[in-house]
Amino acid sequence: MSNTMQYCTRCLTPSTRPRVVFNEESVCNACQWAEKKKLIDWPQKWNELEKLCDGFRRKDDFDVIIPCSGGKDGSYVAWKMKHDLGMHPLCVTVSPPLQTEIGRCNLDNFRNSGFDLIEIRPNLEIYRLLCKRMFVEQARSKFPFVIAISTVVAHVALKLAMFALSVEFLKVSVFSIGYQYSKILLKVIHINCSKDLIIFFHT
Ligand SMILES: [Zn+2]
Repeated sequence: MSNTMQYCTRCLTPSTRPRVVFNEESVCNACQWAEKKKLIDWPQKWNELEKLCDGFRRKDDFDVIIPCSGGKDGSYVAWKMKHDLGMHPLCVTVSPPLQTEIGRCNLDNFRNSGFDLIEIRPNLEIYRLLCKRMFVEQARSKFPFVIAISTVVAHVALKLAMFALSVEFLKVSVFSIGYQYSKILLKVIHINCSKDLIIFFHT
């Protein structure tokens, strides 16, 4: 890594920003991606997304699981799914080890705006031990939380599928495809069983 400070020639993003990469013209990766997005056929992408949802729509139950902790990304996906695509989302989140007041407020506001939410609140005694161990061993005290939010949605989906399937659970297979809509990258996991659900991850 160079010790010389560098700025994007278009947006002035500095090289101290995490994960920033510059091309030979000193244009940052965000500006390069902004150019690529102009070439994408967004109406066609929207049609693809609608067709995908059509295959999973249910009238009597949830038909999509969305990870949402009250931030802008998950809230936006949940809102689009419910109001623009007519889906019935079940939102899922895991509480962080130290929740801030504003974080709590954001999540409550999200739920109060008309969404069903499963909030996993892990055993704090175990959470503390895991965070301390990761801090001592790897200097990553948030690692247990990162693992939890990365896996909770698949866990919930599999458990919901299990309720409907019981012994048929053995037939469940999981695969993923990439899907893009607007500024958000959505990764779709299709639980291939009689109780079909789709899961949208935003990154
Ligand atoms: Zn830039």
